[in-house]
Amino acid sequence: MNDCIFCKIASGEIPSTKVYEDDTVLGFKDLSPQAPVHVLLIPKTHITSVDDVTPENSAVVAHIFEVAAKLAKEFGLSNGYRIVTNCGEDGGQTVKHLHFHMMGGRAFGWPAG
Ligand code: 5GP
Ligand code: ZN
Repeated sequence: MNDCIFCKIASGEIPSTKVYEDDTVLGFKDLSPQAPVHVLLIPKTHITSVDDVTPENSAVVAHIFEVAAKLAKEFGLSNGYRIVTNCGEDGGQTVKHLHFHMMGGRAFGWPAG
């Protein structure tokens, strides 16, 4: 049994506000936005984190960045934006399904946290 909430969002079992969808990638609004634009881009298949990206499944990661470039134009983020993926405990990953935070509409400091 798969208890992963992002798998359930990908299958439609848990509702989300979708901003993009194709066969392999879903984009939806983060429940707790940290910026005027804050969406999560996920592979529809379960990959736990960057730790589990392999030559066999990495094509979807490249595709996610193509989607991000397209969405940046759609959202009008011509002044820039930030894409973040948290990995593991020190990275602050709370949902164990690979996801990329795409945030824009304000300036960000560096380093984060
Ligand atoms: P992480 O901390 O793992 O990098 O990010 C998880 C993100 O998922 C958080 O920003 C959190 O707000 C978001 N999130 C957690 N549960 C849900 C949910 O059920 N729906 C949506 N749309 N976002 C969620
Ligand atoms: Zn999952």
